[in-house]
Amino acid sequence: MNIGVLSLQGDFIEHYQVLQALGVTPRMVRLPKDLEGLQGLILPGGESTTIGKLATAFDLMEPIRQFGKSHAIWGTCAGAILLSKDAERDQPLLNLMDITVARNAFGRQVDSFEVDLPASFLQDGLEMPFHAVFIRAPIIRSVTGEAEILLTLPDGQIIAAQQGNLLATSFHPELTDDYRFHQYFLELVRS
Ligand code: GLN
Repeated sequence: MNIGVLSLQGDFIEHYQVLQALGVTPRMVRLPKDLEGLQGLILPGGESTTIGKLATAFDLMEPIRQFGKSHAIWGTCAGAILLSKDAERDQPLLNLMDITVARNAFGRQVDSFEVDLPASFLQDGLEMPFHAVFIRAPIIRSVTGEAEILLTLPDGQIIAAQQGNLLATSFHPELTDDYRFHQYFLELVRS
């Protein structure tokens, strides 16, 4: 399987490591030609304005947008912001998913936290909740159109959404040694 990881800024190495552990050799995506022949793409966490500006400078925004119309893309944290159509401020966005996000939504004092989330769509996901790591994370404020809510916090705040072959998570499965979210994405790529 040919899976690319946008590798301009952020924690792309951690995604490579999980993919390698799952037997997939990841491809570093830095230029439009790197998308050729890929079946899926991961947009890592990091700083969404920086990633968006770099992707604009490398002429990647439109090619990724086109890629996402017929291929699987998964954005974690900053990557989820990039996938959105609205981040409540002016920054380069892919505008692929019908979601609105609020950046750094958990405030300064609780910038980072971890929580165990039951997730029925993951393998054994009810008996073995997924340990989700949030780092200056966005909240998915609204999910409209064809996008669907995938996961919420116990208080109802949306932290994962899916729209067909597009997946957005506020948190960082690449920072845990639980590979079930990556497996879920690889199934999406195959489907
Ligand atoms: N706070 C970052 C942003 O708004 C996202 C943080 C992350 O990816 N861990 O772009």
